[in-house]
Order: sequence, then C-alpha cells, then structure tokens
Amino acid sequence: MQFDLKTFLERGRTPYETEFSLALSGWDFPGYRVDAPVGVRFRAVPTAEGVDLTCAITAEAAGECARCLAPVVQPYAFTRSWSVRPADLASEELELPLEENGVLPLSELVYQELVLEIKPVLLCREDCEGLCPVCGRPKADGCGCCAPDVAPGTALDPRLAGLRKLLE
Ligand SMILES: [Zn+2]
Ligand SMILES: [Zn+2]
Repeated sequence: MQFDLKTFLERGRTPYETEFSLALSGWDFPGYRVDAPVGVRFRAVPTAEGVDLTCAITAEAAGECARCLAPVVQPYAFTRSWSVRPADLASEELELPLEENGVLPLSELVYQELVLEIKPVLLCREDCEGLCPVCGRPKADGCGCCAPDVAPGTALDPRLAGLRKLLE
C-alpha cells in the first residue's frame, strides 16, 4: 500500500482516506512480535499550506513477560498526524519514510510508528513480581519457599525449613 504524497501535494483537491489491514508478522520488531493483522486508517487532507496526514493504528504486541516469561499480548491504539508542505519533501527533518520519488510506503510508515510507540519490554502486569529465585515458579502463583512471612509456629516441611535457613 502506497500513497503518492508528491502528486497529492501538487494536485490533491479533495480529502483521501483509506482503511486496510496490514500483516507485519514476519517483520523484525525489538523484543516482541506483531502476529495479528494491524488495522490502519490513513487520511490525507489538502490545506492552504500543503497537506495534513493522519494515521490511526490498532495493533497487538505479542511476546513474553520480561519478569515471569508468561505469554503477553498487549493491545495498542494510537493516532499520529503530520503537516507537510511542498518544501518539506526535500527536508532532512521530514519524519516520514518517504522514497525519492515522493511516494510514501504506508507499511514502512506503520512499522516505524509501531516501533516508536510500543515499549520493547513487555510485562504481564506492571507489578509482576517475576519468578521465585528458589523454585523458578511465578511468585504470583505462590510457593512455600518465597512466602515472605510464615506465621511463627507454622509447621514447615522439614526440607523447606532447611531451605529457609540457607536463605536467611
Ligand atoms: Zn509477569
Ligand atoms: Zn518458590
């Protein structure tokens, strides 16, 4: 999917809008995958100075929790916008992945914005406690060895008691 930005700046008189879904499952993302199709709504509106672009993106980042390794799917929905004047096409500071002929590849644009938006470290919960260093199970599941306080007088498995002593 491409958008000819240069031609639209020269001759676009009416707004242009397109909506499509994009498969980015094979693309290389830092620390997560984007398995599910990405929803994209792209809009270009001519203005007195040039053109206003907006791109609304819905996507899911998939991977493992960085602390407990549980599978995580994190939904994202966000919108980006840009105002482009004809003089910007040749500018080094243009934030769009524009090709030399003035064509904007929309999949490149969406990929770039996803990388900027999605946090590279996924967590199953903000307060995920991670794995117990003793038994290797998620702390959230609870385990005798990493229970912070065992009420005095609680009968402990003698093997666990030995383990606790080692930890103290
Ligand atoms: Zn976790
Ligand atoms: Zn444990």
